[in-house]
This record gives sequence, structure tokens and C-alpha cells, in this order.
Amino acid sequence: MIEAGNYDIRTGAGLIACPRCDALHVETELTPGETARCVRCHTVLARPREGAFTQIVALSVTSMVLMVAAVFFPFLEISRMGFGNATSLFGVAMAFSDGWLMPLTVAVLGFIVALPALRAALLVYVLLPMRGQGLPARHAGAAFRLSEILRPWSMAEIFVIGTSVALVKVAGLANVSLGPAFWAFCALIVVGAASDAFTCSTSIWDTLEDRGASTDGREVVPDAPAAAANRAAVEGGGDAAARPGSA
Ligand SMILES: [Zn+2]
Repeated sequence: MIEAGNYDIRTGAGLIACPRCDALHVETELTPGETARCVRCHTVLARPREGAFTQIVALSVTSMVLMVAAVFFPFLEISRMGFGNATSLFGVAMAFSDGWLMPLTVAVLGFIVALPALRAALLVYVLLPMRGQGLPARHAGAAFRLSEILRPWSMAEIFVIGTSVALVKVAGLANVSLGPAFWAFCALIVVGAASDAFTCSTSIWDTLEDRGASTDGREVVPDAPAAAANRAAVEGGGDAAARPGSA
């Protein structure tokens, strides 16, 4: 651990780099409502907000409920000259589930359904126990790391844009009416954007480390007597081997 305002240039402890321009800054603890920006390019480095974890958990649960609706409700109905057909995304997947299109079906369902749902579940797992002053769940650090890795691969919005373009083309040939699943996907995009806006990964990593998860000895703590006493107790416990770089 390192006190706020101090840093170790050999390990990088107490320093934070701008993700866009690499400028190094001395890390400090922010209070909710404060924003840390890069001095050079003004990229937001951290923006902790009061109650953000509860909001992200609520949005993640919302997106999981919407995902069920988006998969199983009718997606669209096509009719021409009295003949019509309505199907859900799940029905389409089942229709292509044998033959050489099967890998495509698996990929589509994986990118637009499984990965976003997994990300929402991981965020709930990480953040639900940490609301208020709660301690992180087991392996919360690994779960949040996986959630951050999956972020660019959740493609529900790309699917909706692609579907909309295809529907405009089909609309000239037949009557197309959109089902509730299409609007559930649209709502998913809005909920996902709101969730990403509330998610400050720097603050979540900071909270995880402050509360004892994935501790590598680099977290910055406010220089309070209680923290100093806690640090002395931890160092007296002889677990220095678990914290490489602190020696
Ligand atoms: Zn910068």
C-alpha cells in the first residue's frame, strides 16, 4: 500500500497514466462528484459518483430482462398477399441450427445475446456486494477483468443497425411489421449506453482494491490513522510474499 500523494517510480504504485496520451499523474483519492482529468488531453481518468454501483446493478438487471424478451418474443412479421410469418430470434436460430450455417448461428447468438448477458451478470456479481460499504465477492477482480475484456465484443447495437438496413430493403417486397423483440433490442441499446456512461472502471478497480480484492500492494489509501494501523497489522501478519513490489 502507498499513502495518497506518494509514489514509487520503480513499480508505478501511486501513479496513474492517461489511457489516451500516456501522461503520468500522481494518484489521489477522489470524493464522489469529483472528476480527475488528464492535464494534457483532458481525458477523464476517474469520475466516482455517489450510488453509481446501485445504478449499474439496476441497469444490468434491466438489460438481462430485456434480453429474454428480445430473444423469445416475436422479432418481426412478414406478410405478402395474405400469407404471413412471424418468428422470434430463437426461432430463427433453431431454423439454421443444422447444416453449414450452424457456426454462423452460434456466432450471432454469442455476440448479440450470450456475451452482453454474461457481461451484465458479471457486473451484477462484482457490484451488488460492494454497494454502500460492502466487501467484494470472491474472485470479483477476475470477474470485472473479464467483463472489461468482453466490452468491445458485445454487439447488440450493431445487430439492430444491420437488421434495420435489411428491413428497409425487404419492406419494398413485402409488408414488414416489427415485433416487441425489435423494440426490446432498441431499449437494450439505450440501457447499455447508460450503463457504460455510469461505469467508471478506474473507480471500480479502486474500490475493489481498497476493500481487499485483487490486492497487489499498489493501491492508494488515504493517510488516516486507522489505515496506518491497519497497514501495520497487515505487514505484521507476514504476508509480504503476497504483495510483490511492496518490498
Ligand atoms: Zn492524456
